Amino acid sequence: MNAHEKDPGWQYLRLTREQMLQETSKPYDSKKNVWIPDAEEGYVAGQIVSKKGDTVTVTVDSTGAEKTLKKDLVQEVNPPKFEKTEDMSNLTFLNDASVLHNLRSRYSAMLIYTYSGLFCVVINPYKRLPIYTDSVARMFMGKRRNEMPPHLFAVSDEAYRNMLQNRENQSMLITGESGAGKTENTKKVIAYFAAVGASQAEAAEAAAAKKEKKETPKEKRVTLEDQIVRTNPVLEAFGNAKTVRNNNSSRFGKFIRIMFNKIGKVASCDIDHSPTIKKAGLKIQNQHRVRSGKLSNVGPADLLEKSRVIRQAPGERCYHIFYQIFSGHRPDLLEILKLHRPLKDYWYVAQAELTIDGVDDKEEFGMTEESFDILLFSEKEKMDCYRIISSIMHMGIMKFKQRPREEQAEPDEDPDTEPARAAEMFGVDLDQFLNAFVKPRVRVGNEWVSKGQNVDQVSWAMGAMSKALYARMFKWLVYKCNLTLDQKGLTRDYFIGVLDIAGFEIFDLNSFEQLWINFVNEKLQQFFNHHMFVLEQEEYAREGIEWVFIDFGLDLQACIELIEKKPKPPKGKQAEAHIAMKHYAGTVRYNCINWLEKNKDPLNDTVVQVMKGSKTNQLLLDVWADYVTQQEAAESAKSGGGKKGGKSGSFMTVSMIYRESLNNLMNMLNRTHPHFIRCIIPNEKKQSGLIDAALVMNQLTCNGVLEALRYPCFPRSPLERIRICRKGFPNRMLHPDFTQRYAILASQEARSSEDPKACAEKILLRLVKDKKLDMENFRIGHTKVFFKAGIVAHVEDLRDEK
Ligand code: ATP
Ligand code: MG
Repeated sequence: MNAHEKDPGWQYLRLTREQMLQETSKPYDSKKNVWIPDAEEGYVAGQIVSKKGDTVTVTVDSTGAEKTLKKDLVQEVNPPKFEKTEDMSNLTFLNDASVLHNLRSRYSAMLIYTYSGLFCVVINPYKRLPIYTDSVARMFMGKRRNEMPPHLFAVSDEAYRNMLQNRENQSMLITGESGAGKTENTKKVIAYFAAVGASQAEAAEAAAAKKEKKETPKEKRVTLEDQIVRTNPVLEAFGNAKTVRNNNSSRFGKFIRIMFNKIGKVASCDIDHSPTIKKAGLKIQNQHRVRSGKLSNVGPADLLEKSRVIRQAPGERCYHIFYQIFSGHRPDLLEILKLHRPLKDYWYVAQAELTIDGVDDKEEFGMTEESFDILLFSEKEKMDCYRIISSIMHMGIMKFKQRPREEQAEPDEDPDTEPARAAEMFGVDLDQFLNAFVKPRVRVGNEWVSKGQNVDQVSWAMGAMSKALYARMFKWLVYKCNLTLDQKGLTRDYFIGVLDIAGFEIFDLNSFEQLWINFVNEKLQQFFNHHMFVLEQEEYAREGIEWVFIDFGLDLQACIELIEKKPKPPKGKQAEAHIAMKHYAGTVRYNCINWLEKNKDPLNDTVVQVMKGSKTNQLLLDVWADYVTQQEAAESAKSGGGKKGGKSGSFMTVSMIYRESLNNLMNMLNRTHPHFIRCIIPNEKKQSGLIDAALVMNQLTCNGVLEALRYPCFPRSPLERIRICRKGFPNRMLHPDFTQRYAILASQEARSSEDPKACAEKILLRLVKDKKLDMENFRIGHTKVFFKAGIVAHVEDLRDEK
């Protein structure tokens, strides 16, 4: 037993030699063993008993039943030496059945990571496995990918070493549907980089100490690495929620960049940092109207799903923090926040679920609070956050009434209750606050007039205000984390970016928010497709093989352009029109109600003006600091300043902001060497060990795993420059290996030269001459022979016949 095998995590990483022997000793007959389609299992194993015309009769291994089916429905079984193979690109047969079988049988042994050529696939285990411990992390540090079993840490370490060796920024792109495990893997990647960077730092410190003959400092202090890891609980508390697909679904995207110096020590970190948008002629209205400063950065966190703050579908919850506050972890909190009613009364957050099975909000709140402290949020900052949360809850149950036939709303409750509580939390005057909602002041020409609002308008404005406040507070949290993480004085030579976005989703009701989430996924999928080609192309180029570059990414271009270029929200009276969109991962039907409003996202300017006068809530002042109200714009104009506010000037819609944020992200990614982790959700029951074959197959097809394995590139025949061969050359073998293994097929040719390439070429040409092999099915590169899918198996058969 080697040292690794003693680790409790190792059994979830690699089979023991005995287990491997057991797998490979299974009986196998390449002529008889087949996979046949099965409604439940996807594919089941069987044996061919007879063939007739274009049909075959097969007995199913598990049941003994006989089935007759079309020949082209059965798929080849790989030799047993490939059972539970760690890299599926090694498979002789790269058919759907074999890929599914390999992933499924590995998953049944809880071997959740599997390579698929250039990228790594992981199936959500839905249980905690001891494979992310410090001891496992240490095993992977400094090791090459092929020395170790498939693991996220192996990919991470590769990125780290690439960065240092090639002096190139790297990115880890963790993709998959909602619930597939992106966020879990992201957390582990970040912890790994923090650990690697820290161990590098320790080594440097120890060396320095040795030089100065000092003891290495032992005291426990909060390190940057700790702080990096702790950004997660904070952002998850405010940005994650229970959905029907995932109890901890990320409702925003984040791009975390860990900066390193030349020797690989962590130098700094930032979240979602992209260049400030300052385009000529673009005044940014409403939520993103900007004066200056970092709050104006637009990145994936701008994609926070705001609608959830006031509305939840059945089976779902609002953001975790609302329930954490009620958990009793801080017994004094509800009194301070004037939350005197039971949680179920606060309509904005109590429309569906209030608890989550297996999640203890009290414990989670402890974690949030502790992380706040480690990230150097002050007590006042924390409390101001909670006060805003509390005000939102109060606003959700404020009552207004309207006299019949009058379009004017007025408060319908004792103002000392909810309205007073909200105003107190905001630190604003109660009357001003209420008046701003029911009679906002607007500018008409040079006059200011009060504009009466009916009950619907007030409640709409209340919702819009709550959403905007929450989104701005979220943005502020990111900003504040960045302030803490921003290390001065250390050189930042390179970065590794880790991207975790909200996954592709299809709900019963899909709206504007889903369109954007799915669009980001579409873009990333295209990036993946494109990249797979580039790497494959590089290998072909290195090997001197001619090909024509066809970019799979272009396949998605139509969908991307449709969203990116066409104004999507149906105009005017068609606001209720419904559309369906064919995404890479499935067709989604979108309900377009309110898209125009959601896109424009109007806010009650007068309420903002009142909030800007808060006497007690500094955070409230900060979140509105970059918003220029009409009143401020007018005052500034009077005093000769240039601020434009309100409806004057051009403005950015939500779509424009999203698009900008995505473009920033893609530009950033294009400047990195990407590493892909494809997360797969095994079933929709959140159950460990259970594979829903149809669900898994669909993901493998949609996210390009199968495609990338089988058709890594479409090469062009060297003779006919126009005709494009349909398939690439997924199997490859080094010339000496090929010559040695297949010498038996043409012994004279195999001995004809000292040069293995010449020998390989001669053997292959002999087979072509004897009409045993087609020229189209292989290519000879500088160091390797490349084969189309299935051809190695054919050559193996020729060898067996000898
Ligand atoms: P979304 O797009 O909705 O944010 P996601 O892909 O980020 O989804 P996660 O939140 O990472 O999905 O995973 C969903 C749940 O699955 C986790 O809360 C956890 O219970 C479980 N899970 C995922 N990956 C792992 C893992 N590697 N080990 C243990 N549990 C996991
Ligand atoms: Mg997530």
